[in-house]
Amino acid sequence: MKQKINSTVNRIRLNKVHRLLKKVNVYSEEFQLCSDIELQAKAESFKVMLSESKMTLEQLLPEAYAVVREASRRVLGMYPKDVQVMGAIVLHQGNIAEMQTGEGKTLTATMPLYLNALTGKGAYLITTNDYLAKRDFLEMQPLYEWLGLSSSLGFVDIVDYEYGPGEKRAIFEHDIIYTTNGRLGFDYLIDNLADNLENKFLPDLNFAIIDEVDSIILDAAQTPLVISGAPRVQSNLYHTVKRFVETIDDEDIKLKKSKKEVWLTDKGIQAANKYFNVSNIYDEPYFDLVRNINLAIRAQYLFDINLDYFIQNGEIILIDRITGRMLPGTKMQAGLHQALEAKEEVEISKDLSVMATITFQNLFKQFDNFSGMTATGKLGEEEFFELYSKIVVQVPTDIPIQRIDYADKVFINGEDKNSAILDAVVAYQNKKRPVLLITRTAESAEAFSATLFQMDIPNNLLIAQNVAKEAQMIAEAGYLSAVTVATSMAGRGTDIKLDKDVHELGGLAVIISEHMENSRVDRQLRGRAGRQGDPGSSQIYISLDDYLVQRWGDGKLQNNQILNDYDSNSLENSRVFQHRVKHSVNKAQRVSEEQGAKMREMANEYEKSISIQRELVYAERDRILEMIQSDDFNIDKLAQDVFEYALNKEVHLTQESLMHYIYNNISFKFEGKMTSIRTQSKEAAIQSLMHQFHEQMAENKQKLKNDYFYVNFVRKAILKAVDSGWIDQVDNLQQLKASVGNRQNGQRNAIFEYHKVALDAYDEMVIKIKRNMIRNLCQSMITYDEYDDLVIHFP
Ligand code: ADP
Ligand code: MG
Repeated sequence: MKQKINSTVNRIRLNKVHRLLKKVNVYSEEFQLCSDIELQAKAESFKVMLSESKMTLEQLLPEAYAVVREASRRVLGMYPKDVQVMGAIVLHQGNIAEMQTGEGKTLTATMPLYLNALTGKGAYLITTNDYLAKRDFLEMQPLYEWLGLSSSLGFVDIVDYEYGPGEKRAIFEHDIIYTTNGRLGFDYLIDNLADNLENKFLPDLNFAIIDEVDSIILDAAQTPLVISGAPRVQSNLYHTVKRFVETIDDEDIKLKKSKKEVWLTDKGIQAANKYFNVSNIYDEPYFDLVRNINLAIRAQYLFDINLDYFIQNGEIILIDRITGRMLPGTKMQAGLHQALEAKEEVEISKDLSVMATITFQNLFKQFDNFSGMTATGKLGEEEFFELYSKIVVQVPTDIPIQRIDYADKVFINGEDKNSAILDAVVAYQNKKRPVLLITRTAESAEAFSATLFQMDIPNNLLIAQNVAKEAQMIAEAGYLSAVTVATSMAGRGTDIKLDKDVHELGGLAVIISEHMENSRVDRQLRGRAGRQGDPGSSQIYISLDDYLVQRWGDGKLQNNQILNDYDSNSLENSRVFQHRVKHSVNKAQRVSEEQGAKMREMANEYEKSISIQRELVYAERDRILEMIQSDDFNIDKLAQDVFEYALNKEVHLTQESLMHYIYNNISFKFEGKMTSIRTQSKEAAIQSLMHQFHEQMAENKQKLKNDYFYVNFVRKAILKAVDSGWIDQVDNLQQLKASVGNRQNGQRNAIFEYHKVALDAYDEMVIKIKRNMIRNLCQSMITYDEYDDLVIHFP
């Protein structure tokens, strides 16, 4: 039923796309007759029409796409097919184009990139790794050049490259940029730490197309980009709290494992109060204690050794839950990693404070418009719509798909399953049919590969280590007799072309050693075979030992006595049993998917506060930079505001309190001519403070020698206050999230609570920033280094 509605909806959407396609096709013959010069001149005339508002992008689309198409034929020797033009239309509309592997998404993207770059505001193609960005850029660059648009890779492809002044800005001045989500995210954060307008390099983000969009904005959405700063003051509570957690029992906590939630029950709170000898751990002074208790119970109950992390050489190594790969060097934020370390009694590492952070979801929301392409969009449609208001349009393949997707093969345990997988590989190998065996973890791929070698079957092992090398290896997976063992992420984005003789043998055979965390990934893997109407097959093997069942299964089937009473052979042949295992695996996968979606939704909810605040702070920062540049920044007004606010809080103005204020905020050297401070009225007192302020600034100005240094000094002092305030705030919010996340007790709505506290903290931050601006202006030490460059020591 649902399927039927889906396909009807998709047909309606495609009809609209079709109408536009026809308009594109109208130009085909005409442009074929055009000279190169005529076609190349089109970009300029399009730009003029746009800038004079004679045409909109929508009106230009058919002609512009037709130009790119004809140009592609002449320059690249490929003429974009109707289905590619359809995909290109969906992309311009800011939606998700589902196009199968091998349909030519790289070429498809050139049409909307060209069209949107005509505005002069920049167009981005964003993909998952440097290798793919560079590959696609190099392949398409000649086309853009011919068409009269400039294009560039968004980074210099040299490890640890140090960019010279202005170099990044020059990169981002190109019309079309190819880069990765990670690179762009860091660029965005770094750009907003620039202490000078000249050091800013990133233009306003206009239009982006995200390749493999589901893996970037759904799967990777939970791992935010983080720029770390100084080590945080380390809590010494990890061990103490851990000992408390070891004393509690099931009634002290409420555990919703499938939702990754755990919190103290009333009984647990009582126990904690008693253990720590406090009246109520939720009272204000125990904020840090509660935070640590929450971290410790999460570490204890929600993270399983060998499923979520390993211990290696006395260190906790996280495991990527989607790929099963180890993630050395990756740490969980805000103390959770340290809580895990305490749980496992390994040495507790430094918790670094967060200087700047953004999730990919919010990064892409910075664009005026973005769209995405992927072979597996439909299964993520609900989320695309909920999080980004984007629909998924399934673009038909150029030639019908011939691949056979077999039903799952069922086994009781992993051992039986693995030997059946090896048998299957051998059988294909005997017929010289190429086979691609895909596993969830690198360990498992390594084990299969080694066993195959022992059986004298040469094979290529790909475990997502060297992207470029693996791209080359996977491209060979379609050769006669090829055996390739790979993890799910290895070699992605690379087309597997078949040897001529392989077609008759049935094409590439894909064997998948277990269902992945998410059915989207399953589909992606099946799609490794059967590109562009090639023959091929895919088959998933399952057993009750599979990760999904272990992680998310309800355990009913595993604990069933029947399993022990029957021999595995007859069970595995029983239809009823097969059915039940399939059901069990499917259900575990559904739980896993729901869990993933829920986590992303939560992350998104939490991210709202920080994202609104980030935008406000970054905008204000830019405003300040511009004002200082143009000498519009009114320091007096700022000082006046700050002093007014400070004095408003004083009930009694005394000479002493004012002296104190001056020492702390304006001048160390105030010599205490009491009579010069007037306390008769608030206005008078403010005037006194302003007087002190002006004297101090005059003194600074003298030390600063000239206007250039003076402006520099003011800018740095002001920005320093903004940045320190914001960095503290980011770090605070990060910690607050960790503490509030589990405070569901007492009917409190954790997210509501979080936003409320976050908002209060924002107001406080603004006040603090202003106060620190004055303090930085007044109380910084001004010196010069041996090259006579200004050095400022902030108070
Ligand atoms: P996808 O990203 O959709 O999996 P690619 O962009 O990697 O596919 O393209 C797959 C292959 O098809 C590439 O070798 C590409 O050069 C080729 N190709 C794409 N479009 C065309 C076309 N219109 N005509 C001929 N070959 C094409
Ligand atoms: Mg691709």
